[in-house]
Amino acid sequence: MDIRTFIRKDLRDMVNYQVQPVRGIKMDANESPFPMSRELRGEIAKWIQEEETLRFYPDTDCVELRRTIAETSGLSADQVLCGVGSDQIIDFLMKTFLEEGDTILVPEPSFSMYALSAKINHGKAVAFDLNAEDFSYPIDTILQLCRERKPKILFLCTPNNPTGSPLERCELERILEGVSCIVALDEAYGEFSGQNDLDLIETYPNLVSLRTFSKAFGLAGLRVGYALGSREMIQALDTVKAPYNLSTIAQITAAKVLRRPEYKEHIAWILRERDRMYEQLRQLEGKQGFYCYPSSANYFFMRSNVENLGALLLERGLLVRAYTGSLKSYIRASITTQEGNDLFLASLWEILEGIE
Ligand code: PMP
Repeated sequence: MDIRTFIRKDLRDMVNYQVQPVRGIKMDANESPFPMSRELRGEIAKWIQEEETLRFYPDTDCVELRRTIAETSGLSADQVLCGVGSDQIIDFLMKTFLEEGDTILVPEPSFSMYALSAKINHGKAVAFDLNAEDFSYPIDTILQLCRERKPKILFLCTPNNPTGSPLERCELERILEGVSCIVALDEAYGEFSGQNDLDLIETYPNLVSLRTFSKAFGLAGLRVGYALGSREMIQALDTVKAPYNLSTIAQITAAKVLRRPEYKEHIAWILRERDRMYEQLRQLEGKQGFYCYPSSANYFFMRSNVENLGALLLERGLLVRAYTGSLKSYIRASITTQEGNDLFLASLWEILEGIE
């Protein structure tokens, strides 16, 4: 029996999200360079040793974690919904709002999961190009497309992955004033930009912010993400959530991390490192067409004429995200440990200077 013939016709040729095998120093997925503190690891190990409740299902409503997130965001717990990474929140958005054939509007280039998740959920993504010069958002085009294509959901990513470019608050406000669809603001890297637009949720019940513990909080391995929005928005998204989606250990650990001071120090370190690296990267500008875009996130987006830059960096032990197709001259590299960053800067210098 050929199982393939049972697969939905529209998915048979779909290539799902590709993850490269782990090799060398990881600068490919925008993870944190900081491991969980020894103290916190001890606390969690102690909890597991004494705990007898893992035979029970987790708290399906993630009450404690949502309360903790609400306290730190200045919202109330019923304005928070937790998911298995913000990937799951993206899926909830599609499941909740898309009818068959509905359209979502997405920036290009941006996070590829929006289009993939829409397709899996019977929707269709229409892309708008970010401004070529600096990857800023083309606000007039977005407003026009929303009028013409009437998308169910408009995705905006700030700082945008992979370009690192922000959507300014005044631009977001212009969009919110001008559209009548759901506006999903992906702020997976928001902690690195220092911008906080959460107060807009009060005025715009169609605005939902997507957040994650995978980046600034250093918990990519736990898979915890969340949505912040109006009570109506959170209730709507909750209708498609399967019970017990987030494991007990994930809930407890994420809440503990949020209550501790370390993550703020880690963010501050990454921002200092971002300044240091950017200064050096700018000095390479022009060599073999190299250009590094300014970044509001924990990674850099870079362009060059070196065709196999990703492979050359890998030969030197550095795993970056190298793009194909229309983005084939670009790479994205996450800010990692100082040692990794130094090796990256030295390797890039060698490659661009043509030193073998
Ligand atoms: N949004 C953006 C913009 C991302 O870059 C990522 C991770 N690559 C995600 C969402 C998903 O993050 P997670 O599922 O780990 O929370």
